[in-house]
Amino acid sequence: MADDTEDGEVELEARLAEQDTFEPSDAFVEQANVSDEGIYEEFEDPEAWERAADLLDWDEAYDQVLDESDAPFYEWFTDGKLNASYNCVDRHVENGRKNQAAIRWEGELGETKTYTYLDLYNDVNEFAAALRDLGVGEDDVVTMYMPMVPELPIAMLACARIGAPHSVVFAGFSADALATRMNAAESEYLVTCDGYYRRGDALNHKEKADEGLRGVEHDVETVVVDRLGDELKVFLGEHAHDYGELVDAHAGERVDPVPRDAEDMLFLMYTSGTTGEPKGVKHTTGGYLSYVSWTSHAVLDIKPEDTYWCSADIGWITGHSYIVYGPLALGTTTLMYEGTPDYPDRDRIWEMVDRYQVDQFYTAPTAIRAFMKWGTKFPERHDLSSLRLLGTVGEPINPRAWKWYYKHIGDEECPVVDTWWQTETGGMMVTTLPGIGEMKPGSAGPPLPGISAEVVDVSGEPVGAGEAGYLTVNRPWPGMLRTLYNNDERFVSEYWSEYSDEESNRWVYFPEDGAKLDEDGYITVLGRVDDVLNVSGHRLGTMEIESAIVGVPGVAEAAVVGGHHDVKGEAVYAYVITEDGYDPNDELRGKIIEGVEDAIGPIARPEAVIFTPELPKTRSGKIMRRLLEDIANGDELGDTSTLRNPDVVEDIASRVGGD
Ligand code: ATP
Ligand code: MG
Repeated sequence: MADDTEDGEVELEARLAEQDTFEPSDAFVEQANVSDEGIYEEFEDPEAWERAADLLDWDEAYDQVLDESDAPFYEWFTDGKLNASYNCVDRHVENGRKNQAAIRWEGELGETKTYTYLDLYNDVNEFAAALRDLGVGEDDVVTMYMPMVPELPIAMLACARIGAPHSVVFAGFSADALATRMNAAESEYLVTCDGYYRRGDALNHKEKADEGLRGVEHDVETVVVDRLGDELKVFLGEHAHDYGELVDAHAGERVDPVPRDAEDMLFLMYTSGTTGEPKGVKHTTGGYLSYVSWTSHAVLDIKPEDTYWCSADIGWITGHSYIVYGPLALGTTTLMYEGTPDYPDRDRIWEMVDRYQVDQFYTAPTAIRAFMKWGTKFPERHDLSSLRLLGTVGEPINPRAWKWYYKHIGDEECPVVDTWWQTETGGMMVTTLPGIGEMKPGSAGPPLPGISAEVVDVSGEPVGAGEAGYLTVNRPWPGMLRTLYNNDERFVSEYWSEYSDEESNRWVYFPEDGAKLDEDGYITVLGRVDDVLNVSGHRLGTMEIESAIVGVPGVAEAAVVGGHHDVKGEAVYAYVITEDGYDPNDELRGKIIEGVEDAIGPIARPEAVIFTPELPKTRSGKIMRRLLEDIANGDELGDTSTLRNPDVVEDIASRVGGD
């Protein structure tokens, strides 16, 4: 086992380790949706965004592509009217594709369901009728607190059909998190479920939803999906309804899609709030849907005949944009998987890629690092040759993990798109176009056509090649958030105050990420700006140190934080997960320290290297560093309600205590 892993590594190091740039294959370029370099120039004119809007069917044509008169409250495709549910469902049925699979769903235990576009049309209509019957009107916010079950996208599309914005709360979040979000949105409707499976165990989700509802200040009508059947019988109290019964009562009913103004809200998504109060990010119907359709087309290279798989959770923006809205608007087949990637075994994902003949696979670096840690023998068990494109999102990906993904999953045939974006941006912003750009592992790439992203210094001046600074975006784009729900003021102060110049009406969006620019205009995103340490007066990015540690053979994943230090101000604490087959011992500890000193310098030398089997993660798989900081400093632990794996925190704390 240890030998296997090491042999695999040696091979990767020898040939790929030296290579810094990769070209998409001719075969890929030839069939790519977008392969003409002229596209960058074309998009210098904002009118070019019509190309994105043209991917949709509009009930009424818009008058203006972009209205900048009330910046930074930009408006897109003004006075146009459309319906998102019509665009994602009805029009494909009308265009002769009613028997094509829209959603293919697989449960953790292996049950499968296929929804053709016609099935989806029927289900969305029936649930839309049921929601109306419960009293849901246009602009009423419907909250969804559900795991990866098909009823989740159905409910989202049913809301879109009747013009009711949805607010999806990640199922892994705590009851408190649900209550906070329902109160903030004054949401009077909740769609949830009895429970779901995790690693073979049936979890009771309804209990958590009920606990959350006790913290909601107003009355709520609840709809409960029966996912577990006899395995879990739940009691439906007053104001609670069984999803199946509701839908049966409306069997065969049709609800006309409500024409929505382009600027009408499609949904709200609360960011996880790794710092401070959750923010209700507002996305609109015309701009958002155009933008995610366009990026699905240009970056993910989605075609209707593809089977496309994004392994994110729908409770995260990635799932909204690139499991539900983008892929369905383009009329492709989108795959949804309920469970974990290592159940029943660590080849589950690859077994599914093979069985469904998946064309594109889009995941997060945290997953790729886990696959790498498990070793190559799992993907090697399966034929992955159906894959045409690979993607990653959520965090910076270190070059070693990128190359592993490229070689062991893509067989050096698939372009890898490293896509930088945020809940707030609605869709992808910085990435190579797979049919055009040269790829550089570790660097997301140039901004997309029409996206004016710039790396600037503290005073807002663009940095030169090879320099690091702050990522900014100085032109609007259709997928941008329009405001924070009920809080225009915070919207301006949070995103538009740092680098804008109100007097000259120059508005610059600040995503709060640090980045580095290279000589070709490629952007390497370093992570959020508050993840920067100050060691003896030197500013060190946690990402850079982590990348050096993960470059040491035997290390699967690392998280670096600053702990208080009397002399240095801050000292580097490194939490490290080893690859299978490697012992977490002093020898490896020594190599890690050496690796950091070689890559960055003695200033970055870790004060402590703590081996741990897991790291605290958010729903998108990001490491929650502030908790690791609390541990390093022996402080009381902060809020853990938005963690995907809250139990690991105590475990890690005990390791530090004993170190
Ligand atoms: P919150 O804003 O709620 O505290 P969050 O920022 O983790 O949480 P998301 O909107 O899901 O919520 O994540 C966006 C952030 O993820 C980006 O600002 C960036 O820091 C990081 N990110 C996403 N994709 C990439 C990428 N390809 N490369 C580097 N960083 C990325
Ligand atoms: Mg964020």
